[in-house]
Amino acid sequence: MTLARMTIAASLIALAACSGEQTADNGAAAAKGEGGVVNLYTARHYDSDLPLYERFERETGIRINRIEGNADQLIARMQAEGERSPADLFITADAGALWRAEQAGLFQAFDPATIGERIPANLRDPSNLWTGFMRRARVVAYDAATVQPAEIDSYEKLASPRFRGKLCVRSADSVYNLSLMGALIEAWGPERAEQWARGVVANMARPPEGGDRDQIRAVSAGVCEIALTNSYYYIRMASGDDAADRAVTEKVKLGFPSLNGEGAHVNISGGGIARHAPNRAAAQRLLEFFAQADTQRHIAENNNEFPASPDVAPPAPVNAYADFTANPMQVRAFAQHQPQAQRLMAEAGWR
Ligand code: FE
Repeated sequence: MTLARMTIAASLIALAACSGEQTADNGAAAAKGEGGVVNLYTARHYDSDLPLYERFERETGIRINRIEGNADQLIARMQAEGERSPADLFITADAGALWRAEQAGLFQAFDPATIGERIPANLRDPSNLWTGFMRRARVVAYDAATVQPAEIDSYEKLASPRFRGKLCVRSADSVYNLSLMGALIEAWGPERAEQWARGVVANMARPPEGGDRDQIRAVSAGVCEIALTNSYYYIRMASGDDAADRAVTEKVKLGFPSLNGEGAHVNISGGGIARHAPNRAAAQRLLEFFAQADTQRHIAENNNEFPASPDVAPPAPVNAYADFTANPMQVRAFAQHQPQAQRLMAEAGWR
């Protein structure tokens, strides 16, 4: 028995003991609509999601067992567990991670009847193995005192000599960077994308360190003039409780570069039903719940991602940033380039 198997077995026994139910009975109960349980393997770790889970439990009577980890840990765990995996639904925040889980054979198709109505086709896997439910743009935080918006209106320009020694960005192992690089490979082909990565490396103000928020703060501190960041980190700093972070966003603004004139690179938070889900119906229900309008609004308000459904009006605080052109690229198209993106970025010297 692997460590992962032991851990999950122990946690399920503990949960079964708490509720007085046998885990094996729960699938049947969920299928009959009498409550039951759904085992959610999640790489989302946001406290703001907790009220959502409580609402789902209240509305459906289905209890959520949360098993948390980073995406690759959870993928490895599901692989190790094989067909005895208790995983029902896997959710994470990067199309590339969903694609890796798909490639590992960890998903089964969901019923697209409801989800297909809510979520645009480019934000879903065409075979319905996984779907997005929130969007996040990978864009540019810039020093409004030194940079004109027109200087950062394309991803190409970030690699131009204008920004030699003036760019902050996190490391190449960030899945957000890998997905952006995947989108450039899809749009431009690998050679031009690698050239771009070389330009980015030449433009780095310092070796990559820290997360996206650290890059935004570095712009404010004068370490660099521009930084790559996911939209929600900036929006969180601009609208959160931290006065220092709010002050940063008075100097540093958010710009939305365009890829081939078709809009900013958009990644997803999303998920799919596990191949061997013991509680398949409950997993379908929870995936549909994530795609609901009120759920998207809650996440937009509290985690500052953008809704995936075009008919969900972005609430505050994301509404102030939502009026950008989103690149319509099929997310699976850039997700599948992540392995190549990783090689090309290493070649280009992006650490
Ligand atoms: Fe993030």
